[in-house]
Amino acid sequence: MRPILAVRVIALSIAALAVALGGGSRPLGAVEPLAPNELGRFMILEYHKIDYPEARWTRTPENFRRDLQRLWERGYRTVLLGDLLDRKIALPSGTTPIVLTFDDSSPGQFRYVEKAGQWVIDPDCGVGILEAFAREHPPFGHAATFYVLPGADPPNRLFNQPELATRKLQHLATQGYEIGNHTLWHATLSRYPEDVVRKQIATAQEWIQRHVPGYRPRTLALPMGAYPKSVEWAVTGQVGGTAYQHEAILMVAGGAAPSPFARTFDPYHLPRIQAIDSDLGYWVDYFDKHPEERFVSDGDPATLTIPAARAPALRSPSTLRVVQRP
Ligand SMILES: [Zn+2]
Repeated sequence: MRPILAVRVIALSIAALAVALGGGSRPLGAVEPLAPNELGRFMILEYHKIDYPEARWTRTPENFRRDLQRLWERGYRTVLLGDLLDRKIALPSGTTPIVLTFDDSSPGQFRYVEKAGQWVIDPDCGVGILEAFAREHPPFGHAATFYVLPGADPPNRLFNQPELATRKLQHLATQGYEIGNHTLWHATLSRYPEDVVRKQIATAQEWIQRHVPGYRPRTLALPMGAYPKSVEWAVTGQVGGTAYQHEAILMVAGGAAPSPFARTFDPYHLPRIQAIDSDLGYWVDYFDKHPEERFVSDGDPATLTIPAARAPALRSPSTLRVVQRP
């Protein structure tokens, strides 16, 4: 009898604590108690411009803030794509990883403004909004990948403040973001022979390294979602003194991505979701209605918790200890 009584006392204490904290209602941002499922799917969101007015390729600063709030309230937490590829997902139990990506280095994604003689990050640009949100909601984090264009015409050349390009790329490289390859000037890779494809990719990396010496982008986002004739040209190569190696290639569409622990996970064909009302709304609603399909962390990076019925979908071998739940 004793253990049961002890459990009851703890349950009562938690209930009393909940009442004290939130008057009995679920506090804003609290996570639904979802069962762990590390074979569920996750979303890679794809943003383009953060600007006005809202359009097919533009999200307003207000709508971007709303997106973050909406994801936070539903238990999504940002993770770096590189950590997912490494299968190192260190999230609290019951939460779901989400990857934020920003293509084309347009000015509204990352802008400095002058304030009292100093350059400060514009609070209404993508980076400013994301960092402010993470300060208010630390568990959400501000992980994101920026697929930049080092050789595009303005305004898409490295966020369009040439004198601050180095400062911006160094901020990204050192403050918990990733810089990804998106070719030198947004070349549609399906149209070009091998040497041009490789030069576009290698030169993009080389020009990123002018700002952040030694930086190696781990992933490539395909301009227009167009694959070169051979995917291998985009994965690994060397042009002159520049060697590139990509562990993942991102498409421009395709919906939610399979778990990196699933057999169906294909890093060279990673699907993304356009972060606009229609597509993002569809997928957030979809996972609200089908929570059992969602990647839900078990809170322990050393174990992999999956529904027993889904065990055949597991990609093997995994170095993690697998826990099967009913
Ligand atoms: Zn693009």
